[in-house]
Amino acid sequence: MSKLLEINDLHVQFNLIGRRVQAVRGVSLDLNVGETLAIVGESGSGKSVTSKAIMGLIPNPPGEIAKGSISFEGKDLVQYSEKQMQKIRGKEISMIFQDPMTALNPTMKIGKQIMESLIKHQGMSKHDARERAIELLKLVGIPKPEKRVDEYPHQFSGGMRQRVVIAIALACNPKILIADEPTTALDVTIQAQILDLMRDLQKKTGTAIILITHDLGVVANIAQRVAVMYGGKIVETGTLDELFYHPKHPYTWGLLASMPKLHAKTDKLLAIPGTPPDLSDPPKGCPFAARCPHAMNVCTTHMPEYTELSATQKAACWLLDERAPKVAPPETIGV
Ligand code: SF4
Ligand code: MG
Repeated sequence: MSKLLEINDLHVQFNLIGRRVQAVRGVSLDLNVGETLAIVGESGSGKSVTSKAIMGLIPNPPGEIAKGSISFEGKDLVQYSEKQMQKIRGKEISMIFQDPMTALNPTMKIGKQIMESLIKHQGMSKHDARERAIELLKLVGIPKPEKRVDEYPHQFSGGMRQRVVIAIALACNPKILIADEPTTALDVTIQAQILDLMRDLQKKTGTAIILITHDLGVVANIAQRVAVMYGGKIVETGTLDELFYHPKHPYTWGLLASMPKLHAKTDKLLAIPGTPPDLSDPPKGCPFAARCPHAMNVCTTHMPEYTELSATQKAACWLLDERAPKVAPPETIGV
């Protein structure tokens, strides 16, 4: 598969008064044409900051890309000016956020909001843009699109609004769609419908998706590859099967154990005890050391390197060092 996006050693920091928060600390990732990559982690792991960096949406100041590159079709977006990024955003790379209400303008008809980007980026005439807006509403499963194109956001339910947001994001046939917790604000049945829709649309349009989520259940539904983030770093990455059936990092084990099971006798979730590290004073060693049940002395003093487990899977954990004691993943994991 050919690479659409290659992130290399990305460091993002926020220079606040009296402290510097190192939100992303050396992230390397790539995205192939047409695939879905999930970035999973708790809040504060750096997943949203990574996606904002791709979109050129890190506010500077206080934010700053201190190091690294984000190569999109061979061009480094880190070097792009705001003006250059405006040609990429919404056209080549689109983003949808958690809350559809904040993404939509409450005083503007739905159709007009879709048309705006078509007129701006594609130079469409008003008439053609309206036709295309109706087509897009149909594509995202909105009934009676000819009528609803002239309605306002408050006339739509939460799930329907998120469909509209997806229609806007896909209006210009972007090569990449970044979805940051796209279903978190919706109730469970609607969540499933939106994920189905995204999967269908991907098949139809070939758009690559970066899905940002804290929820492994969402990942299982849609992603082909997964990157697990913790403390500003990627701790493990692999195919969906590798991460679900052969996870190697204790943090991935913890995430899997805290996932609701389909056939479980109990609905008690095993949350990972403790809190994520303070990234204004990041740990010297493994970011997970303070919460890891398997932590050894070396873990607190030295950051583990990545161990390549297959052509597609790697993890950064001292347990993978040949000198470490053998530890089996807990029995609670598995789908
Ligand atoms: Fe746990 Fe050490 Fe592995 Fe970090 S490196 S996950 S602390 S065993
Ligand atoms: Mg977030």
